Amino acid sequence: MDWQGLEQRYLMKTFKRVPLTLVRGEGARVWDDKGKEYLDFVGGWAVNVLGHCHPAIADAVGEQLRTLIQVSNQFYTVPQIRLAELLVQNSCLDRVFFSNSGAEADEGAVKLARKYGKLHLGGAYEVITATGSFHGRTLAMIAATGQPKFQQPYTPLPEGFVNVEYDRIDAIKKATGRKTCAVMLEAIQGEGGVNVPGDDYLNEVRAWCDERGILLILDEIQTGMGRTGTLFAYQQCGIEPDIMTLAKGLGGGVPIGAILAKEEASVFEPGDHGSTFGGNPLACAAGYATLKFLLEQDIVENCRRVGEYLMARLQGLKAKFDFIVEVRGRGLLVALQFSTEIADGLVGACLEQGLLLNAVKPSALRFMPPLIIGEREVDEAIAILKRVLVKAGQEMVAAGDPPGTE
Ligand SMILES: *Cc1c(COP(=O)(O)O)cnc(C)c1O
Repeated sequence: MDWQGLEQRYLMKTFKRVPLTLVRGEGARVWDDKGKEYLDFVGGWAVNVLGHCHPAIADAVGEQLRTLIQVSNQFYTVPQIRLAELLVQNSCLDRVFFSNSGAEADEGAVKLARKYGKLHLGGAYEVITATGSFHGRTLAMIAATGQPKFQQPYTPLPEGFVNVEYDRIDAIKKATGRKTCAVMLEAIQGEGGVNVPGDDYLNEVRAWCDERGILLILDEIQTGMGRTGTLFAYQQCGIEPDIMTLAKGLGGGVPIGAILAKEEASVFEPGDHGSTFGGNPLACAAGYATLKFLLEQDIVENCRRVGEYLMARLQGLKAKFDFIVEVRGRGLLVALQFSTEIADGLVGACLEQGLLLNAVKPSALRFMPPLIIGEREVDEAIAILKRVLVKAGQEMVAAGDPPGTE
């Protein structure tokens, strides 16, 4: 079957797809329609925390499918309550609202902050966000997302967002005014290039928000659910957000998002916000199975340990290839930065050799594999990447564009 031809015919042209049709997955491996196997370091875009088709998730979803899939949120349902309880017990937040995606969770978080502003901050409504951030694709969230390429086709954008430079506390201070109700940030910028802020940044932002009485919203859609080596990234800097958003890994591959908030910030009242599908039994059963397995099997500790190993192996490559300029990240959210724009070519070459990677920028690769991988999978990926880098280095020399030597 010519699936890719049919895609061209029937789908909107929104995705610059890799020429690969995937039909099956298991653990950290996927297979294409011709039966070729790949090691998957894209992981459903930092989603498949337990790998593909994990039995704990498949069993829970299968059972829920035959029990109750969807009812209205005017009724109580057990999986929603159980997942909310587990999230609250394992975070610093007190209450949960479930959505279907990350953008929706962020959008809801901004609504919550605006309502808080109406109630407690004299009608303040403005949210300060960072350049290079990513908060999703709705109109309001592209206004929040400080990247002009996502904004330009869709102007005019909703008002009430101020984009300031990331990792600069003075920029946030300067932008804060009487209209400010919240600061919304990623703990590490994922889509922006795996940008890790300075050690003090989030602490300083927290202190500033406290001083001004405004809310701190942490978008942990990419960094949450163990991805950075702790269940949530905020736990690594000893601060607590007032509001936190989750999605990506939350359902282990089943679509679900969530807004979590401290009691004082949980100002929604009946009718203020809602969703037809958000928090439905099927998605919440997947979320509950995923989180329970993460916690009981200490997958987060595995992520921390294997993440360190991955970064050490990448540092080893950096010592060999002088066109590698930086290894950055935490846990299993890692980027390899090059001095030139070779990332797309490397992704294609790795694909041929059976390794799936993402070019987070033209000059950087991103690694976001399932959190269940071991050293063996890392070694396998590094071996492929090394072969590909050797060839890329030779091609640069042949093209008369030798990488600088030290
Ligand atoms: C992916 C992502 C989003 C958007 O999530 P969707 O489910 O694609 O809407 C928002 N914020 C961050 C940090 C993300 O990584």
